[in-house]
Amino acid sequence: MSGLEDLYREIILDHYRNPRNRGRLEIPPAVRAEGFNPLCGDEVIVYITVDNDGRIADVATAGQGCSISQSSASMMSTAVKGRRVNEVRRLVGAFKSMMSIHSHEISGQPNSDEVDDVADSDTNKPVPLGDLEALRGVVKFPVRIKCATLCWNTLVQALEESAA
Ligand code: ZN
Repeated sequence: MSGLEDLYREIILDHYRNPRNRGRLEIPPAVRAEGFNPLCGDEVIVYITVDNDGRIADVATAGQGCSISQSSASMMSTAVKGRRVNEVRRLVGAFKSMMSIHSHEISGQPNSDEVDDVADSDTNKPVPLGDLEALRGVVKFPVRIKCATLCWNTLVQALEESAA
């Protein structure tokens, strides 16, 4: 297991040191959304351009903060680029579920069935998470979960902005 954790740590650090799709996009056609995590001081700005086919044609992120928040933004950008908005929404759900799989063990609050659905996603149209799997270990540190999910919440805001 520690070998896997080392690999995950390397993936996170690689995205932190060499963030993908870093920068800004011109508005319009892009839309922009901004997220802030006051618990950690993380800031993530997400730019997306959605084309007429409902596909995320381009994505860029900016901001600053801890390695988890910034590497998550980098991984998120590579995961959603070129994907259809409806696939991206499923990906958001899969990622957030991964971030809450163990939350009931930590918080003592039993969680609903939807958590089990995703834990069991092999049999339920799995959404490939790719490098995002590297953030799985974050659930062991509840304080950092908001760091990892910040860019995803910001992406959802951007999607809503784009649909408006
Ligand atoms: Zn953070």
